[in-house]
Amino acid sequence: MCGIVGYVGGDYAVPILLSALERLEYRGYDSAGIAIIEKGKLVVEKKVGKIRELVRSLWGKKYSSTIGIGHTRWATHGAPSEVNAHPQVDDSKNFAVVHNGIIENYLELKEELTAKGHRFISDTDTEVIAHLIAENYRGDLLRAVLETVKVLKGAFAFAVITPKEPDKIVGVKKGSPLIVGIGKGENFLASDIPAILPYTRNVISLDDGEVAVLTKDSVEIYNFEGLPVSKEIFVVPWDLLSAEKGGFKHFMLKEIFEQPKAIADTVAGFLSQDLSLPFEISKVERIVTIACGTSYHAGLVGKYWIERFARIPNEVVYASEFRYADTPVDERTLVIAISQSGETADTRFAALSAKEKGAPVVGIVNVVGSSLDREADFTLYTHAGPEIGVAATKTFTSQLAILFLTALLFARRRGVIDRDFFYREVEKLNEVARKVEKVLELNEEIAEIATRYRKFKNFLYLGR
Ligand code: GLU
Repeated sequence: MCGIVGYVGGDYAVPILLSALERLEYRGYDSAGIAIIEKGKLVVEKKVGKIRELVRSLWGKKYSSTIGIGHTRWATHGAPSEVNAHPQVDDSKNFAVVHNGIIENYLELKEELTAKGHRFISDTDTEVIAHLIAENYRGDLLRAVLETVKVLKGAFAFAVITPKEPDKIVGVKKGSPLIVGIGKGENFLASDIPAILPYTRNVISLDDGEVAVLTKDSVEIYNFEGLPVSKEIFVVPWDLLSAEKGGFKHFMLKEIFEQPKAIADTVAGFLSQDLSLPFEISKVERIVTIACGTSYHAGLVGKYWIERFARIPNEVVYASEFRYADTPVDERTLVIAISQSGETADTRFAALSAKEKGAPVVGIVNVVGSSLDREADFTLYTHAGPEIGVAATKTFTSQLAILFLTALLFARRRGVIDRDFFYREVEKLNEVARKVEKVLELNEEIAEIATRYRKFKNFLYLGR
């Protein structure tokens, strides 16, 4: 999950982009950046860390641009670093892109573009979008974007600017959120409504497969075939405070409702990842899962799948116990270390001690570039985005998803299951994501039944 914004109007773009990004920070905070068109040239500013680091780095820089895009990142492909932060640009530095989502076929596209002479500098999936737009550009940004979306697989929302058409932002939505804010003599793009609420309450909600072209005085929406689409403008009824929780009363509730997306994103991330294991799974005789808290419980469920599909005995040990009990492991033991943040000290140190004893370590983390991600021999990622609520919700369900996929991966590599079985089971997991969505749609009915039950119980026991 990431946050993207765009502004074109009559005001200075930089402060507007930065304040909009601050309101989107909950969507990602490992790095941030903006791109503006300043005196006919593309200027990109990026920083690792929270938005305030970016804000600080821009103090005293007197940019007068009135058009720009911005991004706050929660890395999925490529560690958090300045080069991997968005905006990503093409070789000629003519096209800047901010992106939320995952380009599943980016490795393939990167190869094709490299063969055509493009030079890539980041590890992100996003960079291919900038190169593709440059490759497809024949004097019309909208056309170049429409050509580009034809070859992109996965879920994405992105925005692009170019000094070749300095009064225009093009935004695309397919699978990740993107809205347009309509102002007076200014227009906005954002992942979420709160980002633009201080400036306007008039919003167009883009649907999947739509492209928005924004100038200071106009907003045009097209479908992926390039045909104009007419859309309704709605007026947002929320105040800023509740909007930051996306209309939910608590972050935890919001995160419960984000579970279908977290599961689907985890499946998509897994399928688009390079899955060459740096150890021989056929030589593994035993798996030891180490974790703490909720991750430990995910590991307990994962054990069933690993033993059932991959036919490898799997113990699940509390990370702190593992460290101090000196659980025996060797080269033929595979250690799976699970930690949402990738920073859980007990899990990290247990993983390091297993590595010292010669055991290969697979990390399962939600934060790309975290300590465990770097320390493990191989990492599988949950793509749940940041979890603000203290109790684990969507991060737990996405850990279950990745453990299920891990079991299938090992089973496939050991030749226990065939390709068809593998993909059938992966599809079933996508079906689970859709079913979770259906269950969540019953929210109000469930609340109603619960209320009735409470009243009934009070009547039975208290007579009122
Ligand atoms: N896949 C992109 C990256 O890692 C965007 C991340 C996201 O939207 O979560 O840079």
